[in-house]
Amino acid sequence: MLFANCIPVIGAINAIICDLQNSAYYPIPKDLAELLKKDSGKNVKWFQINYSKEDYQVIIENFDFLTEHGLGFYTKDKDSFPRLSNFWGDPSLINNAIIDTGKKSSHDYKKILNELVATGCRHLQLRFFKAIDLKELSSILKLIPKTSFRSIELVLSDFKESISSIESFVSNYPQVILIIVANRNAKEQYNFQETRVLITDEKIIDHTSCGKVSKEYFSINTSSFIENKRFNSCLNKKVGIDLNGKVKNCPSCEKCFGNANEIDLSETVMKQEFQKLWSVNKDQVAVCKDCEFRYICPDCRAFTEENHLYGKPLKCGYDPYKGSWD
Ligand code: SF4
Ligand code: SF4
Repeated sequence: MLFANCIPVIGAINAIICDLQNSAYYPIPKDLAELLKKDSGKNVKWFQINYSKEDYQVIIENFDFLTEHGLGFYTKDKDSFPRLSNFWGDPSLINNAIIDTGKKSSHDYKKILNELVATGCRHLQLRFFKAIDLKELSSILKLIPKTSFRSIELVLSDFKESISSIESFVSNYPQVILIIVANRNAKEQYNFQETRVLITDEKIIDHTSCGKVSKEYFSINTSSFIENKRFNSCLNKKVGIDLNGKVKNCPSCEKCFGNANEIDLSETVMKQEFQKLWSVNKDQVAVCKDCEFRYICPDCRAFTEENHLYGKPLKCGYDPYKGSWD
């Protein structure tokens, strides 16, 4: 049997086992994945009777691979090992948000942040597409109650102060877990207390830099796996506020639901129209529905092939019909 947290996912030509406890995935032959789904829980004798001698030998070798990698085990008591529940729930109205700020932005941060806290939002990303220093960042972060967001990420496209100055800055804001300093001539990483600081030469100029899909961004854990089977892996319970204060599903989406300085965020995100994209899952998306990575991969609904609601993310270079990346 496979452990309950080890789940096979079958694609057009390939298959993987997602090990949700150890945040890993293992490519396996598609035939083995199909067998594990179809004949899961059958005893070894059953395979010996129902398969040819050669096939049985291959099956046992594959089972040995699974047990050696801690993905499966032999048991005479399969009923004592229930499958993973598919229930996923989150009591908060919104659990993650992105706020973009540019030169001309005039966000009423106090109002917006308080309204986000009221939705139960736990993860906040603040992206600054303008020159910013630590003094200005502090003036915004000071508006955030210490017991509100569980994590805050900062994306800085034009930050000129020294990296060492960030070390004392982060000690005042323990919720800040990640700072990305883009458009630098270097690639470096620092850990200042609980905060990871990534210096990158990546060009992040505006919201169009978002939406890239690559193996690095795969998220392999039980909660996101179950969530991704039913909901959108980027936009579920997300709200975005763009440079102009427009409230959207994310800052890159076209549809605007009003200005954040003027409307009530909770009322807005409760609208059926706002939540429409939350349930677009990968089993409904062209190409992705045939991809073995569909429950661990991020999605993007803002940049899609042919700008279609159910189009494959435009910035994904994987072809599940060939099993190769660009
Ligand atoms: S939908 Fe695309 S552009 Fe919007 S936040 Fe998600 S990945 Fe980024
Ligand atoms: S094809 Fe779809 S599911 Fe597969 S890696 Fe690309 S975006 Fe993810």
